[in-house]
Order: sequence, then structure tokens, then C-alpha cells
Amino acid sequence: MQDTLTLDHPVERLKGAGPKLAEKLQLLGVVSIADLLFHLPYKYQDRTRLMPIASLRLGMAVVIEGEIKAAQVIFGKRRALLCRIQDGSGLLTVRLFHFSHAQQASLKSGHRIRCYGEVRLGPTGLEMIHPEYLARADGQFPPLDNRLTPLYPASEGLNQTRLRSLIDQALAVLARQGGLAEWIPPDWLTPWDLPSLTEAVQTLHHPDSASSTRALLAGEHPAQQRLALEELLAHHLRLMALRQMTQARGAHPIPASTRLAPQLLAALPFALTGAQHRVCQEIGLDLAKPMPMLRLVQGDVGSGKTLVAVMAALQVIESGMQVALMAPTELLAEQHYQNMSLWCGDLGVQVELLLGKTGKKARDGLLDRLEVGTTDLLIGTHALFQKGVDYHNLGLVIIDEQHRFGVQQRLALKEKAVNGSPHQLTMTATPIPRTLAMTAFADMDISVIDELPPGRTPVTTTLISQDRRDAVIRRVNVACEAGKQIYWVCTLIEESEELQAEAAEASANRLTEAIPQRRIGLIHGKLKSPEKSRLMAEFKAGALDILVATTVIEVGVDVPNASVMIIENPERLGLAQLHQLRGRVGRGTAESFCLLMFGQPLSEQGKQRLEVMRNTSDGFVIAEEDLKLRGPGEVLGTRQTGAIGFRVADMARDQHLLALIPELAERLSAEYPSHCQPIVARWLSETDRYAQV
Ligand code: ADP
Ligand code: MG
Repeated sequence: MQDTLTLDHPVERLKGAGPKLAEKLQLLGVVSIADLLFHLPYKYQDRTRLMPIASLRLGMAVVIEGEIKAAQVIFGKRRALLCRIQDGSGLLTVRLFHFSHAQQASLKSGHRIRCYGEVRLGPTGLEMIHPEYLARADGQFPPLDNRLTPLYPASEGLNQTRLRSLIDQALAVLARQGGLAEWIPPDWLTPWDLPSLTEAVQTLHHPDSASSTRALLAGEHPAQQRLALEELLAHHLRLMALRQMTQARGAHPIPASTRLAPQLLAALPFALTGAQHRVCQEIGLDLAKPMPMLRLVQGDVGSGKTLVAVMAALQVIESGMQVALMAPTELLAEQHYQNMSLWCGDLGVQVELLLGKTGKKARDGLLDRLEVGTTDLLIGTHALFQKGVDYHNLGLVIIDEQHRFGVQQRLALKEKAVNGSPHQLTMTATPIPRTLAMTAFADMDISVIDELPPGRTPVTTTLISQDRRDAVIRRVNVACEAGKQIYWVCTLIEESEELQAEAAEASANRLTEAIPQRRIGLIHGKLKSPEKSRLMAEFKAGALDILVATTVIEVGVDVPNASVMIIENPERLGLAQLHQLRGRVGRGTAESFCLLMFGQPLSEQGKQRLEVMRNTSDGFVIAEEDLKLRGPGEVLGTRQTGAIGFRVADMARDQHLLALIPELAERLSAEYPSHCQPIVARWLSETDRYAQV
């Protein structure tokens, strides 16, 4: 019966697998036997060679072998058995907190020991805590493994041994069946010297001793690259399909504005920058087409994205349709509301604000006006797409700080248009390196505002140790004296609002004690929105000298007179986030300063990262550094969107592959359109595939 199995059969048909196990596998996204083949190791253990102790570095997971020079039970904070191991090159300590009499007897001075474990730093130098080990008086150990040990994503009740046995069976089915379907024509891959898909899958599950261990551990083995290429292609194809589907629904073509936009421009005290002008034109042309615009506008903090959004909104409003503008926080929504009211008030445009906290009575009135079409521009948070919010004729959806929203939220808003899809404009201040953007946002056209309005003075950034807090406070006081306003930002790694708030409160208290004569406000995520808005308004009006804040002020807040920012523990944040924060100052004409007050000790890498901040204010340079140092999750904010969780590919490591993807995707869709869907199905789980459609 096993002989008749094919890759399409459910895993339940495998030996030793029943309905219970199938359920557990399903949670890992594995349904068919073929899925098992694509349940790939997330890393490898190297038990193929002995490493000299002298060559070890922190964090390595390795096999070592040596003689036990001393073994002793110590009674410190916790009882522990310590063994000192000498291999001729150096010494290492093995530390066990739980141990039996039998273990103690075998771990004797003079015995030989072989350990596999992670190297850590202990009080007396290098250590392994609870390594896997063998200890023998005669020093006779079995031969080392002859290949790397794959480690699979596992789950409760489904351990590595079980997974390996299932995968081995799947590999046997694969061998009998003669290989996997190749959806990318093999000759297309010859220039890059990549193996066939079947070969690649086999190698990753069973790396033979000949495969280069080092490449495999680094994720750079051709087998991994072959799979990464296909996985990236799958994501790209899915986004392309999504785009086609959205555009197939059609949209209202909207003619260029001849009245409102020119009126606004004439009333502004400044002219559009060249970059703003160019992007406005790109958007204007998109809007005039009978299919929905899908455009992402990238522009560094302060580059003037809001004005570009207003220009787009006016074009739509002039043609008699409505616009929704969604911001990630109530604070930002309110700020947009103020700006828009100011800019659009004289043009006869009806602007309204809808927040979660809007009272029932106000809300009911607002919703009525929205439904009959009195409202032209509705601004708000995700409250904009809740049930019961019905638009008269929604023509354009603008999403500010796109990376803060989940895909679901974006989709819900699109559904609000009555016929066809609304045009979509998303804006982000996160500079995304081009290759990354082309893959991550393959469903959108991208415009870049690569120029700041004139007259900005660059922010001078200084690194200073926290030990010098008193000196910093004195400088803050002097700056206040000179009429400057100051942000004092507290960071914490913990996601807890509670702890964040506490830390900010402590900082505010210290400041108040040191300089009681200054007016100090404190803003954090635990405050109710009206309270937050009141504080922001006070700060903006100059009624506060210092605003102590958590990272709630990160995005978009605009107080031109604030020209100094102190950031506590900047080493805890990603560079992109620091860049966003720093963008809050330097918005006026006054010379601006940012003090990065780092905690001690600061690692060498930590220092380098902060130096990047000191040396450049170019968001793209900073994003490239972040990508190198922290990976794409930080750059794209994928933690929020959950948009991209790759199994093999790594957007930082595989940039050379990323660059190939757009062309490969185009070519495949053109020459082998029927191959696209199977690739997507192979790499994306059902939920990924459909959640976004
Ligand atoms: P961001 O791109 O970060 O959203 P904003 O749209 O908030 O930037 O603009 C930042 C500031 O620059 C605002 O005060 C805005 O009025 C001003 N601004 C926008 N465009 C121009 C321009 N062309 N010239 C001068 N100031 C401008
Ligand atoms: Mg903005």
C-alpha cells in the first residue's frame, strides 16, 4: 500500500501517522505529503566536527571533547555541578543545575567528556549549561555525525524525531515518483547555477557530507538559494495577482482638478517642492484612469506628504466624490484634521473627523452627513471602516503611515466603495530600499518624495552617555531659557504600556526635581486620548517647555518650535524608528539638536549603529544600515503587518535574488501563465493565500 502513495496524498496515509498527528501537522501548515517536503529546516546543528576550545566564540553551538580536570558541587545562589574541561587548546566549564548521583559519578576528574551545546560566558570564562554530553573513563566515543542535523519548526507533541521520520517517508515517496513538478523552466536558472527543485529539497533535508557545511549554515547553499528564489517569486506573484484582481474591478476615472487644487496652491505661503510636484502629477494621472490607483508614496519625515495627499483629495472631491483619510493614531488623525480644515476650509470642502471616542450623538449626525454625501473628506483612525460607516460615493482612500496597519484593516476600507474599487494612496515615512520595496509592495506603484522643503536646518546629533544626565539636564534648562521647546523621549524594550509609562514618569519626576521652574508635560500610551490631545495642543501652543514622552510621538506629530530632542536608551530602538523620532525636530527654522543618551555598557555594534544616526540624516542610508544590522522585519514593520514570514528566503541576505524577481515574475506570467498559481499554492499556506484576496 505504501507503494501506491503519491505526494498529493494526505499525510495521514504515512506510516505511524493518524488523524491526531495530522491535526498537529495541519497547525504547521502541512496537509499533504508534498507539504512535508516543504516543511524545511529552520537551522542546522553541526555535530560533524570537534572544535578546539580555544577557537570558540559566544553563541556558537558546537561539539567539544576533552579531559575533566576538576568536578565540584558548588553551593551559591543555586546548587550546581561544575566541571572544568581541558582539550589541550583551552579550558571550558560545564555547568549542571540538575544532576543525579549517576551523573555525578561519571563526571569525574580524569574522565573524558564530549559535549554538544551553546557557548556562553560565565563567571570564570566560557561555559556550556546543560549540554548534551557523553562521559567515559576510557575516552571511547562513537564516531561523529557525518552530516548536519536539520532542525524543523516543531510543535507540542510533534518532536524532531517524529518529524524526521515523516519527512524521510515523504522523501521516499518523492524518489519513487521521480521528482517535483518544476514550475520555473529549468533552463532559466542555468545562468545562476542552481540545482533542480527536487535536488534542492533533498539536500536541505539530508545534507550530504560533501555539501559545503559552511554555506548551509549561512543559508547561502545553492539548494537554499534555489528555494529562496522560488519562495520570493511566489510572494511576488501573489501580490501581482492581487493587484490584477483589484484593478479588474474598475474605478471611477477622475479628471484633473481645475478649481480646488489651483486655489489651494495659490493660497499657500510656499510653493511645492520639485519632488512634491512630480509625485502630484503621477497621482493625478493614476486617478484619471478607469482602474483603481494603487500607489505608495515614500517620503522621509518632513518631506511634505500631507500636502501631496490633500492635492489628491481635492481632485477627487472636485469631481463630486468622497475621500477617506486613515491615520494610525488618534493623535495623528486629529492633527491631520486640523491641517486639512485649515487648508480646505476656505475652499468650501466639508472635512469631518471620526474617532473611536466620538460620542454617539455626534457620530450619528456625522454618519448621516457621510451617507447623503455632505461630507467630502472624512479623517479618522480604523474607526473609518467599522460597520455602520457608509459612504455616499467613496472615490479615494488615503492611508497614512501604511506600515502601521494590518492588511485586514486596509482591505476593510476598500470594501466601502459602492461600485468598483476606490483609488488607493498609501503614504509611508519609512524609507524602504528599492529592491526590498519592489518585492514587499509588488502590488503597488511607488513614488518617492526625495527632497525636503527648503530652509530646513539639519539636526545636529550627539551621542552622550547616561552617566552625564545631570549635564544634559543643565543644557536642557539653558535651551528652555532661550525659548526652545524640548522632547524628552523614553524608550523601553518591553512592549508593556504600563512599564513604558512608569519609565517616562520616573524621567519626568527627575526633571521636575532638577529644574522645577520649567513647565513639564508627560505623555504616554496609558493616557486617555482627550488627555493626550490636550497635552499635544498645550505643547504646540508653547504652554509647555518640555514634553516627556514614550514613543507614542514617533509618527507624524508636527510642532515646528520644538528644536531639541533627548532620546533615552536609543540603543533599544531600530535605526528607522530613531530616524522617525528625530524627524519630530528640525521642522522650523531654528537650529535643532538631538541627543542620543545611551545606556552603559554599549556594545561595539550598538555604538556603530548610533554613529550611523550621528553621521547621516538620509533616511535611505539609515534604512540600508538597519537592513544589514537588524533584518527586513524592522525596516518594513512586518511585526505589525505580519505580511511577510519567509520560510527560506531572507530579504537582507538574499538581496541579489530579490533583484531578479520582478523580471522573472513578468516572464513567467507572460510565457507560462498556468505555472503561476501552482507556485503560489506551493509556498503560501491557505490562510496567506486567501486572507489577502
Ligand atoms: P511628512 O512628510 O512627514 O508627513 P508633513 O506633510 O507633515 O511631512 O510636512 C511637514 C511640514 O512641512 C509641514 O509643516 C508642512 O506644512 C510643511 N511643508 C510641506 N510642503 C512644503 C513646501 N513645499 N515648502 C515648505 N513647507 C512645506
Ligand atoms: Mg505625515
